[in-house]
Amino acid sequence: MALPIAQRWFESKRIDDDVTLLWEPYVVPLMRCNIWHVRGRDRDLMIDTGMGVASLREAARHLLEKPVTAVATHTHMDHVGGHHEFDDILVHEIEAENLRSPSGMDTLITADWDPADVIALEGVGYAVPPELVTALPAHGYRLEDYKLQPARPTILVQAGDMVDIGNRHFEVLHLPGHSPGSIGLWEEASGTLFSGDAVYDGPLLDELPTSSITDYLATMARLRELPVHIVHAGHDPSFGRGRLVELCDAYIRRREARAA
Ligand SMILES: [Zn+2]
Ligand SMILES: [Zn+2]
Repeated sequence: MALPIAQRWFESKRIDDDVTLLWEPYVVPLMRCNIWHVRGRDRDLMIDTGMGVASLREAARHLLEKPVTAVATHTHMDHVGGHHEFDDILVHEIEAENLRSPSGMDTLITADWDPADVIALEGVGYAVPPELVTALPAHGYRLEDYKLQPARPTILVQAGDMVDIGNRHFEVLHLPGHSPGSIGLWEEASGTLFSGDAVYDGPLLDELPTSSITDYLATMARLRELPVHIVHAGHDPSFGRGRLVELCDAYIRRREARAA
């Protein structure tokens, strides 16, 4: 069946004075990541960039008046597809090589995926459809031609590094488990956490080939103690501290019960 052509690939919604959420409505829910634009006094952040099916830079042109750093919360294809369009790219040093030479689930056709990935996703209740998009970004676009473009990381970070955009200061939290180099950006002054896929309000993935349940348990124990006001996650709606504690506790209960 032929896919329709999308009028507009990205949608966006202003969340507050400085934060805008962008997303790709024609990417299937499983892979539809939250792209967070944060406006700073000196520089902006683009936290994750979606699938790279269409140009994020072009779609976000109205937001990009200042130099911008594209942050990779981690390097799964649904988060780093647009990084190659940016000159300044920040990633945890452990996953930098994945940006330089992408590999893995690098296709829109899930029959080509590693069966281990499909099992991990279906195991927690996600539907894995044959194709990852429900429309095409332009006439003549061929799903077979999709490829994650290599990107050049310029800022390699580790736990405790600071990301300064002038009026706002974010601490890099290393939050491994979902992936080895997963990071969150934590702004203590406002209690804002950009959490990537370390925690979101949906089924968490800890059995992908590079996931670690042991690391994930430690990450959850840590996140549980963070005095957050709001969590802007890699997927699903944002939430506050009460929900964060529930999500952490549910994860810890589920995994510790299995280990016992
Ligand atoms: Zn992920
Ligand atoms: Zn994700």
